[in-house]
This record gives sequence, structure tokens and C-alpha cells, in this order.
Amino acid sequence: MKPELRDGGTITAYCPDCEGRTNFTPVGAKIEIEGRFGHFNSTYHQLWYSLHQCVGCKRGGLSAIFTNGGYQSAYLRFFYPFFRETLALPSSVPKDIEAEFREAERCASFGANRAASAMFRSALEKTLKANGYVRQGGKLRDLESKIDEAANDGIITDARRRRAHEEVRVLGNDVLHDEWREVKDEEVELAHLYTQRILEDFYDDRETVVKKLIELGRLTKKDGDNETSSSITDTGYDDDGRGASHP
Ligand SMILES: [Zn+2]
Repeated sequence: MKPELRDGGTITAYCPDCEGRTNFTPVGAKIEIEGRFGHFNSTYHQLWYSLHQCVGCKRGGLSAIFTNGGYQSAYLRFFYPFFRETLALPSSVPKDIEAEFREAERCASFGANRAASAMFRSALEKTLKANGYVRQGGKLRDLESKIDEAANDGIITDARRRRAHEEVRVLGNDVLHDEWREVKDEEVELAHLYTQRILEDFYDDRETVVKKLIELGRLTKKDGDNETSSSITDTGYDDDGRGASHP
């Protein structure tokens, strides 16, 4: 849950030391800057920086608030310590894919929504590659066909296939290939959720999925054995060829 600004300037937010949601009360004088500050369609004429303190553990925090003179209808631009929304991943998810997923979460935690979208797309593509959805001749050259093939194989459901396209792939492509646009929090939240769901599809019941992938010829028996003895050695580098489009 995102930090929330309350009347009087208290901020309810996740405290990493208390490991839970607490109140951070404002402490001392704030820095007030006059100017013109915009967020989406709203304009504010002051920027306030304030120090805060957690009522539980006493640790410090820092807020930046766009305002027109009070806390009501002010906009909390950021609050430190950053809150990081993390989702649980199955323990068998390879380390490189988990690292990609966690980095996407870190980007999202401080509002780097475009970077987060690109990283979730990357985590999805690496997942498919690690499971044998790699280019085969002229086939499976792009993420679109990899997702479709995983659905055709029955590893992901048709509903999930649609979400993978709509919430993760297309959003990531928009960021990487289209004109700049603001990516909203809700878009990143959906990409986050569906990337995690797909990781669960592939790794929750890993043994069964590996068996199926071997039957389908996506993975070899050796891949399966390697996986149980060590992690997958996918370096995460794009083996699709440089300059390939990402439809
Ligand atoms: Zn605390």
C-alpha cells in the first residue's frame, strides 16, 4: 500500500524497521518553496519538504508535498523510506529471473513506472526462454509468439495468455518502442501481478511442468536434471539477434 498523507502532515506508510504500516509524524520546520508544480491535471504553487519520525521505532523519514497551502488536497510527491510492494515467488524461480523481477519492483517503488514496465516485460521474456521457448528457425522469434506457444502447450491458460499480452507485453513494448507517455501506477500494478502469476504457472509445481516441457520437446532431460541440481544457466542476454523487433 502506498504512503498516505493525513491531515496535519502525518504520513501513514510502511516502516522497514517496524516491518509494518505505521505513522510518521512531521518533526521540526519544513522547507517551503514557491513555484508552479504540476501533477497530471493539477497545478500547485508550493513544494514542501518535511522531516518525519516513525511513532514506533523513531526512525526518520522525508516527504515532498505539492500543495496550495494546506495538507487537504495536497499531493504527496514522494516519501522516503520508499515502500516496496513485493509479491511472493515460488522458491524454484531461477535467481536471474527473480533478480529481474525484484529490480522491476524496486523501480516501481519510487515511481519509475516506465522502467518497471520494461523490466517486468523482460522478466516475462526471460521466463519463457528459460523454459525452452527460444527461437526455432523462423518461429518463436518474438515475445508474442512465445506467449502464444506457452498457451498452446497448456502451460499457461488462455485467460493468462491474454493478460500476458495486454498487461505485460504490450505495456513493455509501448515503453521501449513508442513515443514517451506517462505510465500510470495501475498499469504497473497489473504488469506486476500478471508477471508473478505466470511465474507461478511455471514454477509452483515445477516437477510437473518440467515433465511436461520435456514431453513437449521444449526442454531436454538434461535441462531437467540440471535444474534440480543447480540453477538454470540462462544469462538473460537476448539471443534473438540484435536489432530484432519486439512485436
Ligand atoms: Zn518504525
